[in-house]
Amino acid sequence: MQTHTLRDPKRVYYMSLEFLLGRSLDNALLNLQLKNKYGQALNSLGFNLEDLIQEEDDAALGNGGLGRLAACYMDSLACLEYPAWGYGLRYTYGIFKQRIVDGHQTEFPDYWLNFGNPWEVPRLDVVYEVRFYGQCHKYVDADGSVRWKWDGGDKVQAVAYDVPIPGFNNQTCLNIRLWSSKPKKQFDLGLFNEGNYDKSVEEQQRAENITSVLYPNDNHMVGKELRLKQQYFFVCATLKDVIRRFKKTNRPWADFPDQVAVQLNDTHPTLGIVELQRRLVDIEGLEWDEAWEIVTRVFAFTNHTVLPEALETWPVPMMAHLLPRHLAIIYDINLFFLQKVEAMFPNDRDRLRRMSIIEESSPQRVRMAHLAIVGSHCVNGVAALHSELVKNVIFKDFVDFYGADKFTNVTNGITPRRWLNQANPQLASLITATIGDGWSKDLTELAKLKAHADKPDFQKKWMAIKKHNKQRLADLIRKQSGIVVDPESLFDVQVKRIHEYKRQLMNILGVIHRYLALKRMTPAARANEVKRTVIFGGKAAPGYYMAKLVIKLINNVANIVNNDPQTRDYLKVVYIFDYNVSLAEIIIPASDISQHISTAGTEASGTSNMKFVLNGGLIVGTVDGANIEIGEEIGDENIFFFGALAHEVDDIRHAQRYRQVKMDAHLEVVL
Ligand SMILES: *Cc1c(COP(=O)(O)O)cnc(C)c1O
Repeated sequence: MQTHTLRDPKRVYYMSLEFLLGRSLDNALLNLQLKNKYGQALNSLGFNLEDLIQEEDDAALGNGGLGRLAACYMDSLACLEYPAWGYGLRYTYGIFKQRIVDGHQTEFPDYWLNFGNPWEVPRLDVVYEVRFYGQCHKYVDADGSVRWKWDGGDKVQAVAYDVPIPGFNNQTCLNIRLWSSKPKKQFDLGLFNEGNYDKSVEEQQRAENITSVLYPNDNHMVGKELRLKQQYFFVCATLKDVIRRFKKTNRPWADFPDQVAVQLNDTHPTLGIVELQRRLVDIEGLEWDEAWEIVTRVFAFTNHTVLPEALETWPVPMMAHLLPRHLAIIYDINLFFLQKVEAMFPNDRDRLRRMSIIEESSPQRVRMAHLAIVGSHCVNGVAALHSELVKNVIFKDFVDFYGADKFTNVTNGITPRRWLNQANPQLASLITATIGDGWSKDLTELAKLKAHADKPDFQKKWMAIKKHNKQRLADLIRKQSGIVVDPESLFDVQVKRIHEYKRQLMNILGVIHRYLALKRMTPAARANEVKRTVIFGGKAAPGYYMAKLVIKLINNVANIVNNDPQTRDYLKVVYIFDYNVSLAEIIIPASDISQHISTAGTEASGTSNMKFVLNGGLIVGTVDGANIEIGEEIGDENIFFFGALAHEVDDIRHAQRYRQVKMDAHLEVVL
């Protein structure tokens, strides 16, 4: 980091309200190449490294794929020695802990900081004030120019906590700076003098509230004021820190976009665009156009979803109350933007309505994705199909206006260090013994395995490792739920957040069909069947009724199927509770096949599909998200596509809903 300070290159800032990091000890030892030495040292003290690793709580400051992507990117940036920083929030409670009680999901708080966190460096010296509410008004400054001022309201403090991200076998260690909210040091003397002690303490507690809990919704927007507060708290503290670092070198503001690149992980940190414009105009005294040029050159935006219920919009009255100056700036950004749209497409009022940052609902709402597009120089989707839908469906008007070059694709990825090296050390060793260790920094090297794929000795070793990993998962399942599964059976896995679009319901209906088919068979026919263990796992958002009902259904089916003496040797159903990164590291290397079966066009990318493939698993999947690119890499013999294509879905839905059409000849045969 001193090297970065000294050389002062352009920095990349990854802004994300979620970082699903998992554990750090094993990863740090592997990346520092210290695992053997450290294990030996522990042994000499009478401890076992594997046991010690299990003691660590997951840092679970994310919901699912989006938060894990942020963690994987930070590992990758450290490996490739980019001058990068991650910025996020230090939630006191991460994603809830899940238990299954009577087949139902129940949630418990994840107080991961209970016994302290050795993987953070409190930076009590890095503190910024953040304002909420208050008023804004015009005034004339000493030079006679009209300026805006935001004052009054409440102030809280953001305190930095730094989480180190060591690179793999190099000299780089990056940093994720997480902000924690604290009350400001000065008390409100007014309240004290009124003898209002209770109210004074209450106000202090409200400040700590801001970063107390991660919102547990995956791909779903919930418009709570506290969430909007989190978002502004985050961008305000982060930009103050970024600007402080920039100002240390005394460069002019015009250099800012050459020194700073900010990547927005979804729309959650989009207020950063407005906040930077506010700081440049109201505080630094730049002209609007000069400031806006800087802002748009700094920000780039990653879109993560096309699901309408997931697109963020905030009620104007809430924004007006919490962030009055920001709302005024949004109105100006929108006016200048729509004036340009009008110039290009005169009198097309419907286009202006569609493209406006303000949705004309009652109450009006701020469309955060539109704001993010207008305030960024680059917008990307997260897999080829998704990026096409972004360009041709959800933001088509913006392509007409800006041109297609502003819209790009950056297919999601995963770090092979955690998802192969760490999660599957035996397979990693076999690969290294076979083709050398270049793969852990350049995955394309894995193609060299093709030359060995048909060698019986290599295959035997490969299958022995898969068997070992399946036994490791079978042990975990027995410990969690008491269910004994056969490691010789085929492990058929679907682990991911529970969501209707991911279609766990279709999978469990398939299991019911499989069970009934087994029941109808003669014992002799049954004995010819491939034994199968169907494994589910994942959390449902606490307020998502349908998703929770699917969990209950899976558990009820498991109860019937696992206890039927006619079928239980051939089919088992397991619900692994509290799916998280550490469990994923055990489950994924043990899969024979995994299911990624979202309705085509709904899963933006998926990343667990990549983790499974990297561990030698086969995929059953729809033609959706990154499944398509994975298929191009691994070939038809390793991925089993089925189902409708994205462009067919609307017509099928329409026909199914409004006409009495038979589904599909295909399906009739199956049924
Ligand atoms: C990778 C990962 C995800 C994302 O899974 P998808 O199947 O791509 O939705 C979610 N949760 C955890 C814990 C993960 O490791």
